[in-house]
Amino acid sequence: MIPLEEARSEVLSSVGLLGTERVPIWEALGRVLATEAISPEDVPPFANSAMDGFAVRGGDVVSAGSVLEVIGDLPAGSETDLEVGPGQAIKIMTGAPMPHGADTVVRVEETSTEGSKVTVSSVVEKGTSVRRAGGDVAEGQTVFAAGTRLTPMHVGVLATIGMGEPEVFARPRVAFMSTGDELTPPGVPLGPGAIRDSNRPMLLALLREAGVETIDLGIVPDDPEALRRALDRGAEADVVISTGGVSMGDYDVTKLVLQGDAHVDFWQVAIQPAKPLAFGRLGSALFFGLPGNPVSVLVSFEQFARPALLKMQGARAILRPRLVARAGETLDTDPAKTVFVRVLVEGMSRGVPTVVKSGGQASNVLSAAAAADGFAVVPRGTGIVEPGSDVVVEMFRWPESREWSDGR
Ligand code: AMP
Ligand code: MG
Repeated sequence: MIPLEEARSEVLSSVGLLGTERVPIWEALGRVLATEAISPEDVPPFANSAMDGFAVRGGDVVSAGSVLEVIGDLPAGSETDLEVGPGQAIKIMTGAPMPHGADTVVRVEETSTEGSKVTVSSVVEKGTSVRRAGGDVAEGQTVFAAGTRLTPMHVGVLATIGMGEPEVFARPRVAFMSTGDELTPPGVPLGPGAIRDSNRPMLLALLREAGVETIDLGIVPDDPEALRRALDRGAEADVVISTGGVSMGDYDVTKLVLQGDAHVDFWQVAIQPAKPLAFGRLGSALFFGLPGNPVSVLVSFEQFARPALLKMQGARAILRPRLVARAGETLDTDPAKTVFVRVLVEGMSRGVPTVVKSGGQASNVLSAAAAADGFAVVPRGTGIVEPGSDVVVEMFRWPESREWSDGR
């Protein structure tokens, strides 16, 4: 058996980048910046009012009850050549550029108007309610490093700095298949001895979440020729992922077909679940032969394929967030392996989450993975984790708040 870290480092060292392209900002979610994003302009582009009110000179509102002459009106999107002189004010709306002479905005709530006179009811400090040019982002400032994977907020900031077509890394095309004579897709009645193909829909979802393009090669029967054809088709993509057929069974056809191949290795990784893994190349495509049981598929996708796919896309961060939690119960694991225990956050104590098993831990029990918030990663050599002790958890989500959710 080879340790997890060794297997992952072997996988990652075989991964290269695919080149770059420009995409419209509208399509940039989840893409990875290929160059750092430098702002060509100040944000905001000019000093402007943060409130609806009156633009004034700070020196004119140092005492309550000042009366000023209103000389103009400035809605957002307009400009004026008028200059605010001593004793004067210009009515201004949120976002309108500060007129010459003014350095302070008095909120409309602090004023009363009569004809062309405005009375300021309170003392207002100089500079109040003015957003300065470049106060959010300055011209020439690097807002995001290359390798940033774009969230909705990143997309919004790229728009504010005027970047309509960011340069991003190309997305790998990933061909994927399930193998097994017993597999039936959802929606079709189950025959005798048949089970549902859960791996393929889950893989498609995992791949979409990883931001790649997908090619569905379907369910491939345990027949060497059919598998060979599917692998050949897949080899035209950048990455091929199969599930099933890599362990010790008589019909483990992936293994039978690829075992002699000089470019594919069959590993026993010291992890549980997901011990067997085939990895290598089919032509120029990277190949992952994942195990068959659905939880094993999830674990080996998460530990090997997802980091590789994110690295191929140039992402700086390729692993899920990790935190140190407290075990809320005994986790009894095999000390010979790094064990991924499906856990959920049961509660928080002094800022530290307490985690417990989310259900059965057998590698076919996918329901416990759906109920989980993450994997507790119990390192090789540990065995038993006592209740109350620290455990590292790789989070794939954070429990959502039930507030406002209608009592359901
Ligand atoms: P294998 O390594 O091909 O023998 O598969 C191991 C176990 O996973 C067997 O019980 C298979 O029936 C099951 N399995 C394989 N592929 C799938 C799939 N696509 N969906 C659900 N279970 C599967
Ligand atoms: Mg099989």
